[in-house]
Amino acid sequence: MRGNGLREWANMKCDVIVLGAGMVGISSAIQLLDRGKSVTLVDRRGPAEETSFGNAGLIQSEAVMPYVFPRDPSILIGAAFGLRTDARVRWAALPRIAKALLSYAKAGTTVSARKTAMANVPILERVRADHEGFMQRAGAMHHMKEGGYVRLFRNGVDLEAAAAVDEAVKAEFGVEYDVWDGRRLAAEEPNLTRQMAGAIHFGTPGRVDDPGAVGAAYAKLFETSGGAFRRGDARSLTKTPEGWTVTTEAGAVSAPEVVVALGPWSGEVLNPLGVRPPLFVKRGYHMHYKASGNASLNHLLFDGDNGYALCPMARGIRITTGAEFASRDDPSNYDQLTKAEAQARTFFPLGERIDPEPWRGARPCLPDLLPAVGPVPGQTGLFVNFGHQHLGFTMGPTTGLLLAQMMTGEDTFTDPSPYRIDRF
Ligand SMILES: Cc1cc2nc3c(=O)[nH]c(=O)nc-3n(C[C@H](O)[C@H](O)[C@H](O)COP(=O)(O)OP(=O)(O)OC[C@H]3O[C@@H](n4cnc5c(N)ncnc54)[C@H](O)[C@@H]3O)c2cc1C
Repeated sequence: MRGNGLREWANMKCDVIVLGAGMVGISSAIQLLDRGKSVTLVDRRGPAEETSFGNAGLIQSEAVMPYVFPRDPSILIGAAFGLRTDARVRWAALPRIAKALLSYAKAGTTVSARKTAMANVPILERVRADHEGFMQRAGAMHHMKEGGYVRLFRNGVDLEAAAAVDEAVKAEFGVEYDVWDGRRLAAEEPNLTRQMAGAIHFGTPGRVDDPGAVGAAYAKLFETSGGAFRRGDARSLTKTPEGWTVTTEAGAVSAPEVVVALGPWSGEVLNPLGVRPPLFVKRGYHMHYKASGNASLNHLLFDGDNGYALCPMARGIRITTGAEFASRDDPSNYDQLTKAEAQARTFFPLGERIDPEPWRGARPCLPDLLPAVGPVPGQTGLFVNFGHQHLGFTMGPTTGLLLAQMMTGEDTFTDPSPYRIDRF
């Protein structure tokens, strides 16, 4: 059924419909296609134009420990009163997000964080290889940059405390890191204008200079390999006696199986089917900047004191912000970005802004910060792959593989039970 004159006909009836062409949906679609399924990928926009477009582009093979709900009262107060750059709560949204925040807080114990870490390991240990496999096939390797990323600290006490945490993670999970003193950091990043105490360097994560372009290249790989991309509204999904149908610009597409990979929008299709995962979002913003003079960055810099990143991208230096707890579609609040920009200017010669407006996205989160991957119990032919929080760009090809293995009866590379949607 692939890549021939019957393709148009064949794709109106296919084996699997994948809803959502972000990094997770595109990757799931490729992995299914690779395993012999005919696949139609549906999105209301072009591929990788939402959350998978605007992130920091890190392939975070080191990010075993989740960002748990903070326990420190000073962090909570700072986030609640808009005093912090790394986290902020939108008061007006509290009635709508309080329940989700409570389940996030409850899941933030040391024991739960360790459980999440154990479930992250089998995915994260192969994310770089899975991305590189796709990149090579998609002709996108030129977007991959080496050198990992560094977490900067202004004072030695904070640097030591962070290094102690990383040492414990290294001892348990083997995550490698180096500590750079101020001199080493200045040598590695000669354009920094302020003396820092030092940095923690993670050398193994990959980084891309244009996550949207990488997603688009993967979508092209999907199409040139015989998959069909259609524009359509996933909310038109209906159950039929034979399976599932969705309306697209090219007409109705039907399949016995459907995958919901709609990132932060996944609830819009699942809720009407009676499936109510405790999905919430951590919003984030980005803006690109020129660098003054010939200044450049050799690594992605994460400000360890303030929780935002300076990412060297093809378009310029992209600042990406930390977590804003709000409803997905609440109006933007640029306060975290403004603060991050002011802080960044104290140690790097940022020039003028490049984009007309800041970009905003929403990290799709489940309380234990693990994605939901696999079948939906009680719903024949309905599968999910969403909730990848801070790591959806990283994990897309790998959770796509896990899902495709489950859907085709192949041996899975890891036990899929920690990612079951009915675990809550
Ligand atoms: C500031 C920021 C920085 C980040 N940095 C990183 C990073 O460095 N590394 C990393 O791994 N992750 C990072 N992330 C997280 C990562 O971007 C997300 O986890 C990931 O993009 C989620 O991918 P997705 O495919 O699940 O969702 P999305 O990319 O949002 O895709 C969902 C798709 O569904 C489509 N859709 C929605 N509703 C409908 C509908 N009704 N009909 C049809 N289509 C619909 C959308 O158009 C979209 O294309 C960051 C996120 C943010 C916000």
